Amino acid sequence: MAKCRECETGTLKIMGTAGFNDLIEVECQNPECGEVYEVEPDGLGGGGLEFIDAIEQDMMNGDFDPDDYDF
Ligand SMILES: [Zn+2]
Repeated sequence: MAKCRECETGTLKIMGTAGFNDLIEVECQNPECGEVYEVEPDGLGGGGLEFIDAIEQDMMNGDFDPDDYDF
């Protein structure tokens, strides 16, 4: 899992896509941080835009689960 860029210890949870649907919104799970920000899919080391497509597909189907995405 990617670590929060703010506190550098919290793990990140995907909240959904953001911007022009080419960014991923993440939330830090460290209760003392809780930072929410957007990341480029490339920064996640995943499949780039395919990653976003998959998230959007899941959201449209109503079965989005952040646990499905290991990043
Ligand atoms: Zn954090």
